Amino acid sequence: MVTDQPTIIVGVLALQGAFIEHIHMLQNIPSVKQVLAVRTEEQLNSVDCLVIPGGESTAMALIAERCNLLEPLRTFVRNKPTWGTCAGMIMLADEATGAKKGGQQLLGGLSICVNRNQFGTQKDSFETMLHFPTILGENQPFHAVFIRAPIITAVKSDDVEILSRLESKVGQTDAETIVAVRQGHLMATAFHPELTRDNRLHQYFVHLALQHKK
Ligand code: GLN
Repeated sequence: MVTDQPTIIVGVLALQGAFIEHIHMLQNIPSVKQVLAVRTEEQLNSVDCLVIPGGESTAMALIAERCNLLEPLRTFVRNKPTWGTCAGMIMLADEATGAKKGGQQLLGGLSICVNRNQFGTQKDSFETMLHFPTILGENQPFHAVFIRAPIITAVKSDDVEILSRLESKVGQTDAETIVAVRQGHLMATAFHPELTRDNRLHQYFVHLALQHKK
């Protein structure tokens, strides 16, 4: 008999930022067997896929370096499904502008360039409806919360699929509207999907992770 057993162990990088909210969202998805807060290499090695939360990419990189997690994370994201949200998207990008003075460590893996703090400071945070036509359907908008968010300024490979663009920002060029992408087993969103009650993007990531499970 074929049963629909929960099969996947999802890790959430828990060094800094909004990791608890992601853990709660993922715990309610039926195909998820376990959600693990990841703080060590051993924990990283025991998960099938990883969410890198929003927070502060500079702080996250520094803590990862101190915990000897930077290299293990770099290897992980090149092999296993990973979703970066906001600061997590910056970590996954191959290039970032607006980086900390003296530079900041990235994990890379996603062939995109991002610009940090695209919309200004905390007080310039905003919420808007986004469309994800290819993964959520044409008329199924998603309520997105942008907090000191980055934007994707360039896509550097043909296999990067643009999942969503900002629709209502006046005066922006086309290149400054990309807010969600997928490239193979990697996915990135510029906003905070864990701060709403809508878990459709979490469900999509778990689906992607199941497809790429090794
Ligand atoms: N501005 C933050 C950074 O550069 C990202 C903000 C967020 O994750 N909400 O890392």
